[in-house]
Amino acid sequence: MTVNVRFAPSPTGVLHIGSVRTALFNWLYARHNNGKFLLRIEDTDKLRSTDENTRLIFKILEWLQIDWDGDPVIQSSRIERHKEVALDLISKGKAYYCYCTPEELASKKEQCLKENRPYKYDGKCRNGNNNHDSNIKPVVRLKSELEGTTTVKDMVQGEVTVNNSQLDDLVLIRSDGTPTYMLSVVVDDHDMNITHVIRGDDHLTNTFRQIQIYKACGWDIPKFGHIPLIYGPDGAKLSKRHGAASAIDYMQLGYLPEAISNYLLRLGWSHGNDEIISREDAIKWFDFDNVGKSPSRFDMAKLQNLNAHYIKERTNESLLEYMLPFLKYELNNEVKNNILKGMDSLKERAKTIVELAESASIYIKAPEAYEDKCSKYATSMHLDLLNEIVEKIKNNEFSTNEEDLCNSVKEFAGSHNIKLIEIAQAIRGALCGKLASPSVFEIISIIGKEETIKRLESFINHYGQ
Ligand code: GLU
Ligand code: ZN
Repeated sequence: MTVNVRFAPSPTGVLHIGSVRTALFNWLYARHNNGKFLLRIEDTDKLRSTDENTRLIFKILEWLQIDWDGDPVIQSSRIERHKEVALDLISKGKAYYCYCTPEELASKKEQCLKENRPYKYDGKCRNGNNNHDSNIKPVVRLKSELEGTTTVKDMVQGEVTVNNSQLDDLVLIRSDGTPTYMLSVVVDDHDMNITHVIRGDDHLTNTFRQIQIYKACGWDIPKFGHIPLIYGPDGAKLSKRHGAASAIDYMQLGYLPEAISNYLLRLGWSHGNDEIISREDAIKWFDFDNVGKSPSRFDMAKLQNLNAHYIKERTNESLLEYMLPFLKYELNNEVKNNILKGMDSLKERAKTIVELAESASIYIKAPEAYEDKCSKYATSMHLDLLNEIVEKIKNNEFSTNEEDLCNSVKEFAGSHNIKLIEIAQAIRGALCGKLASPSVFEIISIIGKEETIKRLESFINHYGQ
């Protein structure tokens, strides 16, 4: 089976995470079938399309390793071709000029509204209109079928049928001469040899009208797959209001591309009970039999769990590389090495790269402030104990080797008849400025004697005054 699919985003806004899923499903379907995945930028709405949005589409797809075949098609460069098809339809009697004015149509619409009838264009110019004002710039309308039905055997939605009497003679070319989306999308899909149109189910109603265009042109009709949209936890279409809705938001929040990709794949598609699915397996297994019909709800906690999983899977070197842009600082090699030494523990607890970068700050600098909870471990008793520990580290009675230090401090706690946690938390507050971190002995073994003494003393001074 030949499979040529396309992803056709409009750069009129930042790429929505739902569109990324559409891209992914198209891409997987192409790769699964050894087909082609083509990219088309639908930028005909020149007022709302921006170069920046187009740049971000490329950037997000590259980030997710969703590679496209050949050069992207820029829809606005094909306007002449779209017009040519419309003119050809006119010459074949399949389309016609409509001279109805917007005012005329608006008043007919209003009349329908009053009479509680659904509005559709009444076909006034369908058989010629010689009575028009010569100043009027006409639109071009398709001569849609008036009778019969149109059926889509959708790969996701199943068989869906509408009566052709419900479809009106849609506009192909606007009065300013620009082609409509309906026309452009059909001409481009035909010219690009698209065999399967896979897109969000908000386009399902357009499909019936697009099929009318295919028929009028005498072209093969591709197969369609309309995937349900993504909703927020409250059931409304996922939007900025729910936190993050654009793909770039998730990138900036510190989600790894493999986590996003795995999450979006599972959102609306399943393979048994598998949750963690590699790219190779996704390509091997992806098909439309297992794409669900019901809307998907975005579950942030699930995405975070997957992200935490993929963070643990990455090598320490790649995590360091990945977190660099998230850090506010330039790092020298010594600090980079320290972070690498601590990475095994850091990556155990991070759900996002932002959290990981945040937690790595203990290897970058001494705390600039102590969170409020630290004061609980900064009583005079704690400070006295810390003072003793500083002395012992200074005179090498306590080594900064992780295991040795752990044993020494345990013994020290025992001899003072105090729980280890009391001392460990005081040390943690001093080293990190907060009470959650990897093992303090590990941190000390990495940052070394001088830095440890410095941080402990700062803490003692801060609370000792
Ligand atoms: N450009 C359309 C959109 O962004 C998609 C058109 C299509 O997939 O047919 O919604
Ligand atoms: Zn008309």
